[in-house]
Amino acid sequence: MKKAIIWFRKDLRLSDNPALTQACEENNEIIPIYIYEENIPNAWMIGEASKWWLHYSLQSLCDNFDSFGIKLVLKKGNPLTILQSLLHETQANAVYWNRRYEPYSILNDAKIKQTLYKQGVKCNSYNGSLLIEPWEILTQKKTYFKVFTRFWNQSLKVLDIPNDLPIPELKKKNTAANLLSDNLNDWNLLPKHPNWAREFKKNWNPGEFNAQKKLMHFIENHLENYSKERDFPGCRGTSALSPHLASGEISPRQIWNAIKNYNITKKSKLLIESSNKYLAEIGWREFSYNLLYHFPKLPSDPFSDRFQSFPWKKNESFLKAWQKGLTGYPIVDAGMRQLWHIGWMHNRVRMIVASFLTKDLLINWTEGTKWFWDTLVDADLASNSASWQWVAGCGADAAPYFRIFNPVLQSQKFDPEGTYIRQWIPELTKLPTKYIHAPWETPEEILKESNIQLGINYPYPIIDHYEAKTKALDSFNRSVRNSSI
Ligand code: FAD
Repeated sequence: MKKAIIWFRKDLRLSDNPALTQACEENNEIIPIYIYEENIPNAWMIGEASKWWLHYSLQSLCDNFDSFGIKLVLKKGNPLTILQSLLHETQANAVYWNRRYEPYSILNDAKIKQTLYKQGVKCNSYNGSLLIEPWEILTQKKTYFKVFTRFWNQSLKVLDIPNDLPIPELKKKNTAANLLSDNLNDWNLLPKHPNWAREFKKNWNPGEFNAQKKLMHFIENHLENYSKERDFPGCRGTSALSPHLASGEISPRQIWNAIKNYNITKKSKLLIESSNKYLAEIGWREFSYNLLYHFPKLPSDPFSDRFQSFPWKKNESFLKAWQKGLTGYPIVDAGMRQLWHIGWMHNRVRMIVASFLTKDLLINWTEGTKWFWDTLVDADLASNSASWQWVAGCGADAAPYFRIFNPVLQSQKFDPEGTYIRQWIPELTKLPTKYIHAPWETPEEILKESNIQLGINYPYPIIDHYEAKTKALDSFNRSVRNSSI
């Protein structure tokens, strides 16, 4: 009788799950497990908002397994110790998992593989979360790509995406029924007092089947206009699939195939253009993993050496104002409040707030990375680190440092009616559109009519953008000069 453990990690789904499918094909019985790890030095432990997501995502995975009469075993602690004890208890002789690419996971998985191998247990690992493994796309000189377009063009040349895998036959694989499992509620993944995640539930439905539903809804209703609407935070122009992807409730391969199949039936030029744009965004996710894999210090060290001694400023009160959405720049504040309230922020606004933190306030991008890590439901080490470095100007293929977003112009361009700002900053609801992007320029009587007292119920700008821009350029020029001496 062949028995195997399937170790779930960032692949909380039954369909298109290579480790699960393979384990089911090769074994008579399976034991699915999720292990919650805590307090690991030098690893990026799961942030608070992602814990919220994890709770509901695991609940959903438990229910899905349950509907096939299978129990998902939940355990908290050291994975190697837990796997060893479960192998012993069940007499299973193999472990299956889908690969992870964070530096800590790579080291830990290798250690687990080696140790279990010596004990006669085979560990089988698969690619369950990327279209292409980071070591598969290399330049002619066998180095990794540092420029997105080249990386993606090369990927498109060699990508051969197979059909995604259906949910495997699970009915007769019941094994774990008598095993002890933790109670999910005892892990305390949900916030208690204060419950800062009150609005999360209204905005998100974690779980594999909800992810699939959302994908199809997006494809049928929004994909065609994606390239026109994706930059406007006031409309629902993007898929909001990122937390589902980050937890592995859906795979990029499922997204790829669903879009390609839909396109075949429609054949519209705009749809094809938008689909390519959308898939290129999935490509940015792949590129971020490529960077993290080949440059594991991506979350902490600037990719570009020129930034090694950049004179970042420490300023607690600026950092707090940014985190709380009280900078006095409405588009920045709206973004930061959206993040706090629903654990997610529109991509265009992520770029604006990141530029503001690093270039206007001259605060180290790593502070932004940490805050996003804790507050995003889609927190993803590769995408978060690569994107922060990209905006700060120190990343691979980064926006040049001298391109400093003007928060007022960005706001006028991408939120022209102030829809997004009004949604997240109720204090400014009544302000006429003409002034909503820069309330400090509003005549006194209009401020009064709009119930706004600057400095009392909405702040004055904490910094003057033009002065900040001059300072930032000066710091950059000096830093570059010093690094090339
Ligand atoms: P869509 O526009 O619908 O895109 C589809 C998918 O493509 C996304 O779900 C995501 O998986 C991927 N994607 C889109 N844009 C990017 C990008 N620039 N880089 C990498 N992948 C991308 N994304 C995360 O998933 N986790 C993060 O922690 C994260 N941190 C970020 C931090 C900063 C400072 C910035 C500027 C961007 C960050 N992103 C991050 C990328 C991007 O903002 C989000 O993926 C996107 O906003 C998610 O919304 P969506 O699913 O509607 O995207």
